[in-house]
Amino acid sequence: MVSFADQLTVPTLMLDERRCRRNIERMAQKAQRSGVRFRPHFKTHQSAAVGAWFREVGVEAITASSLRMAEYFADDGWRDITVAFPVNIREIERINQLAARITLGLIVDSVESAELIAARLTHSVNVWIEVDTGDQRSGVDWNDGAVAVQIAHTLRASPLITLSGLLTHAGRSYTKRSPEDMRAVYGETVARLTALRGVLSAAGYSSLALSLGDTPCCSLVDDFSAADEIRPGNFVYYDLTQAVIGSCAMNDIAVAVACPVVSKNAERGQVVVYGGAVHLSKDTVVDGDGRTIYGLVSRLTLDDPGAGWGAPLANTYVRSLSQEHGVLQTDTATLASLKVGDVLAILPVHSCLTADLLKQCLTLGGETLPMLHLDHV
Ligand code: PLP
Repeated sequence: MVSFADQLTVPTLMLDERRCRRNIERMAQKAQRSGVRFRPHFKTHQSAAVGAWFREVGVEAITASSLRMAEYFADDGWRDITVAFPVNIREIERINQLAARITLGLIVDSVESAELIAARLTHSVNVWIEVDTGDQRSGVDWNDGAVAVQIAHTLRASPLITLSGLLTHAGRSYTKRSPEDMRAVYGETVARLTALRGVLSAAGYSSLALSLGDTPCCSLVDDFSAADEIRPGNFVYYDLTQAVIGSCAMNDIAVAVACPVVSKNAERGQVVVYGGAVHLSKDTVVDGDGRTIYGLVSRLTLDDPGAGWGAPLANTYVRSLSQEHGVLQTDTATLASLKVGDVLAILPVHSCLTADLLKQCLTLGGETLPMLHLDHV
């Protein structure tokens, strides 16, 4: 059998199963304590194997970000999936095929989309009105009750549509840097959704559920009882962004990219690894020292693979990325301790994108876990 170390020849996503399961259990328990449905977003891991760990803690309903992803998980036996991306009418055939075999949730944020699906659905679906609670991405403005009511009226015209409720993603939590500020985003989000639900209720749409959940808020809030379901995704692996903004600890991060050292430049205090933008993504974060970084760097224990990676090295960070190169800035002692052919662990800035780019992951036990792959069209 090929050893763990021998498998690390090219940039490889490594998964610390123990940390990942701990992240899953913690969030599942929080949802349970609040009495809300836990509908985790599976776009971060995109893996049937990791999905199975959610089943073990009782999760039955999930979120996906594309129909393709929803189909992959439906093929794996998931029977209740919300595609939390504005409905793409050009995929209506696919929507109908999937709706024929699972409980499918869709989101709409305009009368136009509502009319199109109402006219073209052939199977029953649950529909959520997506609400913009302050992020200016997609969604009906939380203050625009008139449009929300019009959408609800349009959806009611179809016997195949059940209006489930209001759904939002409070992505602005990512701009906050303190637990108090993140909790304030959560409180504001709940208040805005509740206000809009009141308008719909007055128009005759009662018992609408509220669905929300981003990793920062879900990590820092303990009581979700004002909502009906939570949909965080990133928490399954966490990443440097979450650690920097304070929604997880460094040792909650469950993935790192193994990157071979290929070159050193003592004069510049730089080390080049095989691991670039096509492996890590070009996302950056400003760390506590005000540096814009593409990742942090840890040592890997290769003779005891289960040990994984250690705390990030001091004075060392990923300073730039090109397609395949990662340039690390470091100090003299660290540089001297590294050899070409060593393997370093890079903690990713945004684990969702990194996992998506790498397409498979290797557990510290040496098992390759399947992920949604390009051959699943
Ligand atoms: N729901 C929706 C609609 C999203 O867009 C996302 C992430 O982009 C999530 C849930 C999960 O949020 P997070 O990645 O913060 O866990």
